[in-house]
Amino acid sequence: RGDSACAERKVDSVCPYCGVGCQLTYHVRDERILFVEGRNGPANENRLCVKGRFGFDYPNHRGRLTTPLIRRAGVPKGVDPAFDPANPLSHFRPASWDEALDFAAAGLRRLLDTHGPGVLAGFGSAKCSNEEAWLFQKLVRTGFGSNNVDHCTRLCHASSVAALMECIGSGAVTASFMQAAHADVVILTGCNPTVNHPVAATYFKQAAKRGTRLIVLDPRGLVLGHHAHRMVRFTPGSDVALFNAMLNVIVGEGLCDRDFIAARTEGFEALAAHVAPLTPEAMAPLCGVAPDEIRAIARLYATAERAMIFWGMGISQHVHGTDNARCLIALALATGHVGRPGTGLHPLRGQNNVQGASDAGLIPMVLPDYRPVGDAQYRAAFEELWATPLPAEPGLTVVETMDAIAAGRVRGMYILGENPAMSDPDLHHTRAALARLEHLVVQDLFVTETAQFADVILPASAWPEKDGTVTNTNRQIQLGRAAVPLPGEARPDWWILQQLARCLGLDWQYAHPREVFAEMKRAMRSLDHIDWARLEREGAVTTPCPAEDAPGKDVVFDDRFPTASGRARFRPTVPLPPDEPVDAAWPTVLITGRQLEHWHTGAMTRRSAVLDALEPAAVATLAPAELTRLGLAPGAALSIETRRGRITLAARADPLMPAGMVFVPFCYVEAAANLLTNPALDPYGKIPEFKYAACRLAPA
Ligand code: SF4
Repeated sequence: RGDSACAERKVDSVCPYCGVGCQLTYHVRDERILFVEGRNGPANENRLCVKGRFGFDYPNHRGRLTTPLIRRAGVPKGVDPAFDPANPLSHFRPASWDEALDFAAAGLRRLLDTHGPGVLAGFGSAKCSNEEAWLFQKLVRTGFGSNNVDHCTRLCHASSVAALMECIGSGAVTASFMQAAHADVVILTGCNPTVNHPVAATYFKQAAKRGTRLIVLDPRGLVLGHHAHRMVRFTPGSDVALFNAMLNVIVGEGLCDRDFIAARTEGFEALAAHVAPLTPEAMAPLCGVAPDEIRAIARLYATAERAMIFWGMGISQHVHGTDNARCLIALALATGHVGRPGTGLHPLRGQNNVQGASDAGLIPMVLPDYRPVGDAQYRAAFEELWATPLPAEPGLTVVETMDAIAAGRVRGMYILGENPAMSDPDLHHTRAALARLEHLVVQDLFVTETAQFADVILPASAWPEKDGTVTNTNRQIQLGRAAVPLPGEARPDWWILQQLARCLGLDWQYAHPREVFAEMKRAMRSLDHIDWARLEREGAVTTPCPAEDAPGKDVVFDDRFPTASGRARFRPTVPLPPDEPVDAAWPTVLITGRQLEHWHTGAMTRRSAVLDALEPAAVATLAPAELTRLGLAPGAALSIETRRGRITLAARADPLMPAGMVFVPFCYVEAAANLLTNPALDPYGKIPEFKYAACRLAPA
């Protein structure tokens, strides 16, 4: 850490990692970031976690791209263990921007002209700004002529959004995590905030200290469980059984909020009939929780004056992820725990801007603000705004895109800031698909694993190098500001998007991201009363916002839901098994996720000196008893095998892990967890089952 007295300047911005959206200040000297301090933002009140505080030096990594690159003729595509991403000239040659953009656009244009619009697809990024997300989806829709545009929400909370849209008419949170302070009871399920949303976790701990009773429901024991009134472990993949049993208790014991149900919802009688036979006794064998425990937590939640539910990807990343979220919504609706301070539904969003990128339309089935692409009236408004006819057919989701490449239906792609060669399930399949692409344009900071499949790589901008807005998990729109200059020939992402659009024949004339934001406001009602000047002045404004001089709404749906009838809907669900249940041959449950120190595929944090020093190598976490059973000491090499592949990495004991389960972070290319994961999809959210694959363990 440096001394602020010797810093040349301070630049206020936002953390580039998780959806908490901590405000921070970059201290800059000699055009480099010296250190970072937390700022008094609405979501962090000066706090930062280890990533926000120390993960700022990745833009200066020796492997940072500073010039456009074009693949050398004859070099095969693929993740090559001998390839050094910091010395890419063995596989790529430098190019000027003119040559690289012409090359990128010509390849895309050739495929479009030969095969038609569906032949191209694009993955944008939740790490980019709202303005960049807007431009990316606009480029795909108006330049590629299809809705084949998606991003990592498909690997994250797409199933939560599907359930929320269906049941309450909006995919965003109904209340911020700050509202936990006003709740009597908070359920946290399928989330691990001390690791994945560390600053939000501090608010949960603080609430617990002041008397809020935390109920932590998870297959694993969690650190947050130490602060919980009740920590309940359940059988992996049995969420629907557990939640239905809770609903059975709430309905059967008359703990519902009858007035709320009558005034604000529809479909309750069908739900009540559906859960009547799903008693705690009937569901206990499925979920592994004692009936009395189920009754206790159901009563605790239902009888609270104010209660909230927070969830994460332990809920969403299942083939029944949408059903899991439907159950949680039903719990809140049945008890009237939504629409008031201290109540609500809150899927903790993963990436720093996954909320904003989704709002901005980086989704294949909806235009910005979540209106279906098939809605002719809404589509017409965008056709007028962009003076271009738009496609009415929904596009391909992330995993569907890889399947379409494998089937030869998609032949070219533009990938901005995403790393599917590490993040997608069943990587053998994903990487084979990427290798099959006839033309791949990658825009990124480094030669990521995905960029190793690229025909052309465009050197992009890191978050501390650009201006733009992001929207955090609380629906707070915040302004990031450029703190340091771009290295070499690297360029702002919005500029690269504009140049590529022009090469494809589109007439784009933006001079700054604020002009893009102004265009977004013309189409997105969610941005009413919020403009760039206000964001510069106030630092953060919550959407929706009722007036230019009023704060945004922290708690929404106090009188009606944004559905056609104004009422929320109950959606009954049936407990279903995981796609690939454990059996005698594959007896252990593999779950994947993140570590505190590393972010997603590690592209940024593994290039950050402090974070990489803290967690430098691939590890798998399992119960001490499992290590003993395998005859392994902590740190010994462990082999994990599924039906799709095998990896070897170091074993780490965690007393909070249950037997029969292993956890692997997905950020380590040397032992890529997603070589093992199951690509089976939730039928509604199209999200893969990252939180359950049958595997077997052995000493390596
Ligand atoms: Fe950044 Fe999230 Fe940590 Fe805050 S909690 S500093 S937003 S990674």
